[in-house]
Amino acid sequence: MKNSMIILIGPPGAGKGTQAKNVSASNNYILISTGDLLRDNVGKRTELGLKAKSFMDKGELVPTDLVVDMIKSELKKYGADKNFLFDGFPRNLTQNELLKKMLIDFKRDIDKVIYIDVDDSVIYDRLTNRRVCPKCKRVYHLKYNPPKKDNLCDDCNVSLIIRDDDKQDVIKKRLEVYHGQTAPLIEYYKGVNKLVAINGENNPQDVYKDIASAL
Ligand code: ADP
Ligand code: AMP
Repeated sequence: MKNSMIILIGPPGAGKGTQAKNVSASNNYILISTGDLLRDNVGKRTELGLKAKSFMDKGELVPTDLVVDMIKSELKKYGADKNFLFDGFPRNLTQNELLKKMLIDFKRDIDKVIYIDVDDSVIYDRLTNRRVCPKCKRVYHLKYNPPKKDNLCDDCNVSLIIRDDDKQDVIKKRLEVYHGQTAPLIEYYKGVNKLVAINGENNPQDVYKDIASAL
């Protein structure tokens, strides 16, 4: 069977990270989450991390050349002839054009874009109560998806953390950036018949089923 390349798109807090981890593990996709990769670089204080941090803390996009180089090296690392699931990339039309060019070199193309649709009114509650495992990146929610033991990852037993950018004013900025820069990709992929829209306000199990059947 031909390998496929899928993009997950949606506003911050739509559930992309939550779903991406399950979908990739159960369906043999390599997950490339630009947010997780950048946060790892920030944590390790790499040159890339030091450059990216101030943009991330403000809720702005990290400069495109930094992100595109990171994607290129991930594709090279795994070999481009695999199933890939992108979470958080591309984030604007310029990144999309650069991705398309890069994929020509790798003789690949985007097969489908899965849009997890969630209204802005739901986002603040989701993000202010989000907790993440710094080790395995598993995502929790204090009300909807709490860990079994208070503030400890079910899998790693390490303390959960609050992301630096899950603050009211930064969330507001991230939503603005999403609507202004990322949302136009939805129209683009609808126009080329590659978009599958999914209701992200359903419970996580139903969202998962919708994504799995779209793959
Ligand atoms: P994204 O990666 O799109 O920013 P996350 O996967 O990190 O979003 O999810 C944001 C928050 O919403 C997390 O706290 C997560 O536990 C919670 N969440 C994810 N999907 C759902 C859902 N379908 N219903 C309720 N809460 C959800
Ligand atoms: P995320 O984990 O997807 O919510 O991303 C967190 C932050 O990382 C964003 O607010 C941006 O600052 C940065 N980021 C993630 N992916 C990209 C990308 N493709 N382009 C630019 N910045 C990104």
